[in-house]
Amino acid sequence: MIKAPRGTADILPSEIYKWDYVEKVAKDTAKCFGFSEIKTPVFEQTDLFQRGVGDTTDVVQKEMYTFSDKGDRSITLRPEGTASAARAYLEHSLYALPAPVKLFYDIACYRYEKPQAGRMREFHQFGAEMYGNAEAAADAEIIAFAAAIFKNLGITGLSLNINSIGCKECRKNYNDALLKYLTDNSENLCETCHERLKKNPMRVLDCKSPICKGIASGAPSILDFICDDCKAHFEEVQRRLRNMDVEFSIDPSIVRGLDYYTRTVFEFVSTTIGAQGTVCGGGRYDNLIESIGGKPTPGIGFAMGLERILLVMESIGVPFPESPKPDIYIAALGQFEFAEKLLSELRAKGIWAERDISERSLKVQMKNADRCGAKFSVVIGDDEVKEAKAAIKNMQSGEAQKIDLNAEEIRSYIKKLEESNGND
Ligand code: ATP
Ligand code: MG
Repeated sequence: MIKAPRGTADILPSEIYKWDYVEKVAKDTAKCFGFSEIKTPVFEQTDLFQRGVGDTTDVVQKEMYTFSDKGDRSITLRPEGTASAARAYLEHSLYALPAPVKLFYDIACYRYEKPQAGRMREFHQFGAEMYGNAEAAADAEIIAFAAAIFKNLGITGLSLNINSIGCKECRKNYNDALLKYLTDNSENLCETCHERLKKNPMRVLDCKSPICKGIASGAPSILDFICDDCKAHFEEVQRRLRNMDVEFSIDPSIVRGLDYYTRTVFEFVSTTIGAQGTVCGGGRYDNLIESIGGKPTPGIGFAMGLERILLVMESIGVPFPESPKPDIYIAALGQFEFAEKLLSELRAKGIWAERDISERSLKVQMKNADRCGAKFSVVIGDDEVKEAKAAIKNMQSGEAQKIDLNAEEIRSYIKKLEESNGND
């Protein structure tokens, strides 16, 4: 039997309403913050990620799905959304729009990783990007946006950790100090970190091995090396977050896994879903646009992992709205064609109407009506058609009321009752 590839998952109808809910809350929140959706291709030229994400990152070094297409072009399935959004921003001259340009995306991403809980080879991200503003208020706003999504989902207990990794200039001094410390303590570093040490020592701070993590915890703090401008920026970000009542802690060990970050970096972390606890990561990337061929343009963004968000919601028991149910079940006694016509008129009016395609006995139809959880049902026989009236039954209370047998009457009856029940 052919199975789905390792590290991928089917999302079945019994689960999809949870995904729909999370995505809807995220998109509704995006609206309040003035972000518009962008859709970019699932695959890009490999070069985009090599330059955008950074050659020395784990993502580019080990995790990309890269292949040659039939025209011998090197193609990569997107491992993340930021580089693609930045490419589109440049390609379509979105910089000509008044700043800030605010985009969000809701996408599948691909990374060749060791699958485990919260770590998939195909996974989903909701992310946002804001271009054109270097001010600390932009950092605070993007962080507040991510925090608002978690709040609107009813997720509590996440910690928001922020840090500043400075600009290119501060990083030079820091890299020297870090390299010295790591070289002095390199004995027990993992093999990959020995490589990282040569190419990009800051990547060692992002290693997941407990031993490397232990060594990293004693490393010099970047915050002791950032320049006065970067320091003032970081302090202003904190002031703005406090002003918007967004709670945070400072964690000087956050460096993030992608090369394009400058100044502010942040993570939202859960302690309830095991080792893969980072549900959202983001930061400022003032060098990204330039690195893929544009004019220097400040930018900042975040990406949250939808699988991990769902795991958190399940682990802390955040209630999901019930999965939607049919509005009405149309049962027929003989009058199947009349019922079919009515069904089609109801659907044209936006009503979710069900029936028995196999046109079986009334008993079977009523059983189906129960099983699918329809809110109302109606039985159409010869008398109903003759009188042009039928009893519409509330499947929960059992109450029935005779109404005119036409689609508009049925629609308004259902809507009126739903409104009085406070449903939408
Ligand atoms: P991690 O440290 O867990 O590998 P990362 O730093 O590689 O995460 P980012 O590239 O910042 O992650 O991606 C943003 C978010 O996307 C992560 O915080 C996480 O929620 C989610 N994510 C990243 N990789 C995966 C994956 N392989 N499977 C599921 N979710 C993922
Ligand atoms: Mg990773």
